[in-house]
Amino acid sequence: MRYGIFGDVHGNLEALEAVIAAMEEDGVEKYLCLGDLVGYGANPGECVDRIRELEAVTVIGNHDYAVLDLLDISEFNMYAQEAIFFSQKALSAAQLKWLKELPLTADVDERLTLFHGTLDQPEQFHYLEVVEDAELSFELLETPVGFFGHTHVPLVVEEDEETIGVVEADEVELEEGCRYLVNPGSVGQPRDGIPDAAYGLYDDATDTVTIYRVEYDIETAQQKIRDAHLPEFLAERLAGGW
Ligand code: ZN
Repeated sequence: MRYGIFGDVHGNLEALEAVIAAMEEDGVEKYLCLGDLVGYGANPGECVDRIRELEAVTVIGNHDYAVLDLLDISEFNMYAQEAIFFSQKALSAAQLKWLKELPLTADVDERLTLFHGTLDQPEQFHYLEVVEDAELSFELLETPVGFFGHTHVPLVVEEDEETIGVVEADEVELEEGCRYLVNPGSVGQPRDGIPDAAYGLYDDATDTVTIYRVEYDIETAQQKIRDAHLPEFLAERLAGGW
């Protein structure tokens, strides 16, 4: 079985369509979404509908929480806040209801766990950026592999019997006796200096996780942000991947 794992879509429909097309070509049979379907981009409702169509197993992210008024957004920067207000108006009652029913964590086929930020206090949306951040999530992880998002930066962390360390590779063959936490990067707003949309593929036949990047129509996504009168900053950053 091939699983397509993606998250931090952030209302960027052009990036999402490019990633879905790539995953279809990869022969993905099951879709897993790591949250933050909305915020920042101009097409939050369309992205929600597309992900529902995929029947993706989906966990909720902090921007999804924010549009539902479940999160105090005074800590968001003003660009993110504006995008939350825009998304609240853009989403239908049915789309909001669907988002509200999403869980904070999900187990898939007794092998994979999904969450947005960290497994400890998932509703607090802490950032898992470095090896030290991974310890608490490994303690709570009940499957061999966990997938997460939130930082918009791809990361693979491996735990063997003695140590926890970062694996510097886009393709990782999972080793027996080890456990893994994998961030496949962001579909709609990559922040690692590479503007291409990111997603992950897990193949349980070869027990391999691969992180892929795909080009998408950035100009159209930027123009839609401008047309929606969202902050120019949100359009600019897509071209630089920051
Ligand atoms: Zn995000």
